[in-house]
Amino acid sequence: KDAVKKRILIGMSNTGGGHKASAEAIQAAFQERYGKKYEIFIVDLWKEHTPAPFNSMPDTYSFLVKNAFLWRFTYEVTNPKLIHVPYLSAVGSFVSRGVHEALDKYHPDLVVSVHPLMQHIPIRVMAERIRSGAMPPTNFATVVTDFTTCHNTWFCPGATRCFVPTDYCRQLALENDMAPEQIILHGLPIRPSFSRPLPSRAVLRRTLGMATGLPAVLLVGGGEGMGALEETVSQLDARLGDKCQVVVICGRNRSLQERLRARPKGTGHVLLHVCGFVDNIHEWMGACDAIITKAGPGTIAEALISGIPILLNGNVPCQEEGNIPYVIDNRVGTFETRPDRIASIIASWLIEGGEEQRAEFVAMGRRAKALGRPKAVYRIVDDLAALADEPCFDFGPAAAALLRQRNGAAAT
Ligand code: UDP
Repeated sequence: KDAVKKRILIGMSNTGGGHKASAEAIQAAFQERYGKKYEIFIVDLWKEHTPAPFNSMPDTYSFLVKNAFLWRFTYEVTNPKLIHVPYLSAVGSFVSRGVHEALDKYHPDLVVSVHPLMQHIPIRVMAERIRSGAMPPTNFATVVTDFTTCHNTWFCPGATRCFVPTDYCRQLALENDMAPEQIILHGLPIRPSFSRPLPSRAVLRRTLGMATGLPAVLLVGGGEGMGALEETVSQLDARLGDKCQVVVICGRNRSLQERLRARPKGTGHVLLHVCGFVDNIHEWMGACDAIITKAGPGTIAEALISGIPILLNGNVPCQEEGNIPYVIDNRVGTFETRPDRIASIIASWLIEGGEEQRAEFVAMGRRAKALGRPKAVYRIVDDLAALADEPCFDFGPAAAALLRQRNGAAAT
């Protein structure tokens, strides 16, 4: 093992794009801050290190989440601790060998999880190895990548630290028996590109090929281009015509991109900029006046940092539900699913609203900016670096308690 370089294993799984994005944000911030001092390994523990059928978990999630009823059922049934602790314990007897393999392969100085299903089993495996002397004392940290409502499996008292993005999540962690000193609130880890200063809106618009003088709205549906984006474009076109420009980021949704490109252009039509999956979303956010998006945690946190009002047009059931009251209660945006009403709201925000409405729109943007946490990723990374350098022994007793709990369950 390299004497200087510390090794950090980030366990994630590609269920939705957000976990991978958070893992990559942490990796990028580590590089920026510490150069080569830490080596980061991002590993899909479910896909790469577990046997069938557990390795198909990411694909199962993609299927479930598109079928709202099935997803809600799975989520709610496994949410109580009474269910998921023994459930994960049972699954653990099958998958723990995979976790052993990953630990043998990477010899981490710190294990980080950015996934709700990667606490209980890895912690138990680590505790066993530490106790038997097969592994030196090593910290385990969870970085919660949901924003408000989140599944209880995120919280395992055996973790050394749990980084949460909002006070709502902090409360959930407390309700799940985590001690206050285990929970740290910095915000969601967002890519470092969001914390660097941007050129002015006018300069950004010129570089991105947008009209400088027209109000602009950004339309996104997460990494997969989900939701009624096409119908929303039609309604914006009908309502606003050439008084406005719309940037649509289709993500990985190729057919949507093609359909939008084929739409009529020119006089009387909304000026449309159609993009596929982009890696400069921070620039598009900086160039636009407002955003229409599903209630994805990543996109909401990024829009807050960019200081643009948010119109939420839908959500993944369960874990994104709490993000809607979060946006409304903090008065940084609103929620509307019907495309015709969405177009009316955008019209009142950007074009037709009176002085009072205009002032409120500007205030929403200011409140968003104040709520954004561009430095969160660096604070998380500094804390993780300290955890990699210095195993603190509060992991030991907590993990031991977990082991006792499991052994007790096995004995009955
Ligand atoms: N994103 C991106 N380029 C795209 C579309 C999306 O970088 O073309 C990013 C977006 O900035 C955000 C993430 O993908 O960081 C989407 O995360 P979110 O939590 O909003 O939704 P998810 O796709 O995970 O459901």
